[in-house]
Amino acid sequence: MQDIIRLLPDSIANQIAAGEVVQRPASVVKELVENSLDAGADDIKVIIRDAGKQLIQIIDNGKGMSPTDARMSIERHATSKISSADDLFALKTMGFRGEALASIAAVAQVEIKTRQKELELGTTLLVEGSTIKKQEPESCPVGTSVSVRNLFFNIPARRNFLKGNPVELRHIIDEFIHLSLSHPAVAFMLVHGDEVIYDLQPSKIGQRIVALFGKTYQQQLASCDEEAGAVRVSGFVGRPELARRTRSEQFLFVNNRYFRSNYLHHAVMSGFEGLLPDGSFPFYALFLDVDPKQIDVNVHPAKTEVKFIDERTVYTVIRVAVRRALGLHQITPALDFSANINLDQQLSGGQVQSKAAFFGEHQFRVQKSNADWEKLFGGIPQHTAAQPTQQELPGLPEQQAVRASDRIRFQFQDQFIIREVSNGLMVIDQQAAHERVLFDRFLSRMKSGSGNAQQMLFPMTLDFSPADFSLMVGMIPEFEKLGFKVEVFGKATLLFSAAPAETASREKEIIEGLLEQFKVNVEVLDLPVQENLARTLAKRAAVKRGQRLGMEEVDALISGLFSSNNPGFTPDGRPTFFIFESNRMAEFFNQ
Ligand code: ADP
Ligand code: MG
Repeated sequence: MQDIIRLLPDSIANQIAAGEVVQRPASVVKELVENSLDAGADDIKVIIRDAGKQLIQIIDNGKGMSPTDARMSIERHATSKISSADDLFALKTMGFRGEALASIAAVAQVEIKTRQKELELGTTLLVEGSTIKKQEPESCPVGTSVSVRNLFFNIPARRNFLKGNPVELRHIIDEFIHLSLSHPAVAFMLVHGDEVIYDLQPSKIGQRIVALFGKTYQQQLASCDEEAGAVRVSGFVGRPELARRTRSEQFLFVNNRYFRSNYLHHAVMSGFEGLLPDGSFPFYALFLDVDPKQIDVNVHPAKTEVKFIDERTVYTVIRVAVRRALGLHQITPALDFSANINLDQQLSGGQVQSKAAFFGEHQFRVQKSNADWEKLFGGIPQHTAAQPTQQELPGLPEQQAVRASDRIRFQFQDQFIIREVSNGLMVIDQQAAHERVLFDRFLSRMKSGSGNAQQMLFPMTLDFSPADFSLMVGMIPEFEKLGFKVEVFGKATLLFSAAPAETASREKEIIEGLLEQFKVNVEVLDLPVQENLARTLAKRAAVKRGQRLGMEEVDALISGLFSSNNPGFTPDGRPTFFIFESNRMAEFFNQ
């Protein structure tokens, strides 16, 4: 028998390791920026082309590498950060595995230029698929620049597996936000193609949050600072009125490292108990400082999980920190006291004022008059009955049950529509049905480019965070097809002067919600832009449960729903109606 086991060549071992460490361009950004931070840089530039598929370049002013270290840095398990197993339990650096550069160099074309300040000349090193192509002296500034070109150039399957540019860019921005949030004293810049997405000056954490997420955050942040035993929690939570409808701006860091934890997320949310409308999520950026011995970050190569030795204490401290920040402790000294007591008083002044600032006046003009409804359903064929004979049904005094043509239909409890059909009673969920109707309409409008624009009485400007702004600008053509009229109106501001009639004076709320939902859909579903927009807008603009409808509205909704090719489900797959069959009713009585 022949022996058949061999050691893998380094280049293959590195490629395999790269599968863990380098999932997408964003992972490269994370690893390289962490290296810059570990090198003591206080100025870091991230330059991206083609969402990182073509180029990712990180330039720092850190301590640089000697020519020999530059060569060593791309070897696997080569690190300057730990030297013994003990060091693993007292980590002070972001990196420690010595895998990142080796993995990246295995799956891309990498150029490292670096100089230490004691040396007059730096070095430039070219590596391609783990092979050093050249190294020579070069005059370059102190610090390090790493350029990563054509990621996965030698693994077509992985390259093809990358998502579209908006998704990959979103992941990069997320990593950039985590890193720059946790290092506010460092200047950060993010450039994508010709566009400067962020240019962040060194600052305190509060200013960094505003620079990242926009001016509206200025007055909305409540600062936290709480210490107990070996744990300190600091940072900011957003006031409840800043809460979004999606969970995207929630950040936890431990010893300046971003991590995720459902358990500790719950701790934050429990601090907000009683303050948030259902289904909304507060902003938070909370920093835990714990003795490195108390945690293990070694759980996963992508390192977004952290194990705490005493998680329950951390939970309690977070909860207390949040409640104190929201002003609850001044009135309720006991931890488990109900959150609702005197809350109005507590939050009054600030809340009223900032709420108006945050939502704008439009929020208060949500109405459901027939005129609005006409707009909502404009363009849908009206009910077939030319002259409905209205006739009240006995036993249903409050409902406007009528017989039009030959079918009974009425709204029930302001949320369902009941309609007689040949084999029973159809129960329609008004909200789901309206989503379907609007989705079909928006999608066909975008396909034909025939938006139904309605001039707004007062053109409206909206400020966005830099990242959201670039996303919005990219979608302007699609917005216009839907019937919006949008212009760029400043560095991170858009001017809206017309909107589709369906948004019925809720433009601001709808556009903001639209952006939030859009981002979630992009990440989770990778939908094409048009379908994503149509879905999102339909969801936002649809009538909600609890809204009273007039008879024409009921009729328009029914006929709209059944002129759809897919009346049974909302665009995201929820049922819109069911039929309660008359033979089932009969069975009930005959048993
Ligand atoms: P790790 O960060 O886990 O040590 P890496 O593969 O990311 O592993 O980096 C290997 C080594 O290369 C680091 O330990 C460090 O000494 C050096 N290095 C990498 N990037 C830089 C940089 N930007 N500036 C200075 N040294 C760097
Ligand atoms: Mg590293």
